[in-house]
Amino acid sequence: KYQSLAYNHVLEIKKQHLSPVATAYFQKPLLLHQGHMEWLFDSEGNRYLDFFSGIVTISVGHCHPTVNAAAQKQLGRLWHTSSVFLHPPMCEYAEKLAALLPEPLKVIFLVNSGSEANDLAMMMARAHTNNSDIISFRGAYHGCSPYTLGLTNVGLYKTALPSGMSCQSTMCPDVFRGPWGGSHCRDSPVQTIRKCSCAPDFCQAKELYIDQFRDTLNTSVAKSIAGFFAEPIQGVNGVIQYPKGFLKDAFELVREKGGVCVADEVQTGFGRLGSHFWGFQSHGVLPDIVTMAKGIGNGFPMAAVVTTPEIAKSLAKRLLHFNTFGGNPMACAIGSAVLEVIKEENLQENCQEVGTYMLLKLAELRDEFDIMGDVRGKGLMIGIEMVQGKMSRQPLPGDEVSQIHEDCKDMGLLLGRGGIYSQSFRIVPPMCVTKREVDFAVEVFRCALIQHMERRAKREKI
Ligand code: PMP
Repeated sequence: KYQSLAYNHVLEIKKQHLSPVATAYFQKPLLLHQGHMEWLFDSEGNRYLDFFSGIVTISVGHCHPTVNAAAQKQLGRLWHTSSVFLHPPMCEYAEKLAALLPEPLKVIFLVNSGSEANDLAMMMARAHTNNSDIISFRGAYHGCSPYTLGLTNVGLYKTALPSGMSCQSTMCPDVFRGPWGGSHCRDSPVQTIRKCSCAPDFCQAKELYIDQFRDTLNTSVAKSIAGFFAEPIQGVNGVIQYPKGFLKDAFELVREKGGVCVADEVQTGFGRLGSHFWGFQSHGVLPDIVTMAKGIGNGFPMAAVVTTPEIAKSLAKRLLHFNTFGGNPMACAIGSAVLEVIKEENLQENCQEVGTYMLLKLAELRDEFDIMGDVRGKGLMIGIEMVQGKMSRQPLPGDEVSQIHEDCKDMGLLLGRGGIYSQSFRIVPPMCVTKREVDFAVEVFRCALIQHMERRAKREKI
């Protein structure tokens, strides 16, 4: 039991001195003191299975011993020197990361957060093409700096203050909520047939969404554009997958229009999707720029932009890119240890095996409960869409989703929330999670759904 600050005192400090804008999960926010691999411990000593990884950020496990050891070793050597000097951890890390990316994606810019990475990628796209318009999907989250807010199309984060000039949103090819498609046309081990105008063996969803995309390019942006940003699977929007082949066609159209293609791998990278190390590989595309953050440092502030020598040269011609902390020795030593652990512990393979196991178990649950509209995802990036009923597909009201969320927490399971209506659960545990823990999590979720149905029956009786 942690003794230092009383819970109410902590709440008071937060109220008085911390950003009032930041939201906290749960009616009584958790006060966390310790983490070990996929487990978290609160101030009362309660244990929680962390299936949200602090928003997809803990990749190899909380306080992983190998990463801790690397950090401690570097701590005693050299904390910081900015990128105007060379130091071994930065060079070693750059070499290791470059080896994981296909040609010609070999030039690395180290920064500190996903927003910064996407800010820089926007700048690169514009410097390289001499154009300004950039396109992203509705429901996309690419950061909340004034620049990236233009690409983020989730109402919750939008502001009345001017932001993100020359950014244009386009329809998200969401095969569950959108007008076309169904789970039969997305890349996931979990499928279900939806009421849809296309038959599973003659699915036109990809073409129909591509028509919309082409329409945006023809009607809503300048003659030539700077680029297109896409997450290989949308995270904040509730783990949204596009129809197979969509990104490939979209990339071609963007390039025809003079733009570059950017894959935002902030959530999907580093093996989380199981079948591939990078999300873009699962779409069979080669981006011009890749941005990464979160899991790259297993919770340590670190991010990167990787691009081609040609684009890097275009940027260098236009501006001197400087970042005090980017490529910091601590971050690089930690980043190298993370890559080592992913490889040594076969975590990408674990994502594939345990993720598929979980998806199939959740699909059984979906067939049992009418309010579980959809189960989707790949590897250990899983979404559950809660609905009022499978026929109507109306989102389950936020307060009901919150209650299920809260009940899971009370039974020792932490899940993420997502979706434009806050109607989805996001499951993105540390990549080391086991099938046994998945069994526990699915059982907890089932109990929470039963409690929900009982509450609903009681309400209807009154
Ligand atoms: N891109 C994606 C896909 C993200 O999910 C996020 C964070 N939720 C960001 C960018 C921004 O990252 P950061 O919070 O580190 O700025």
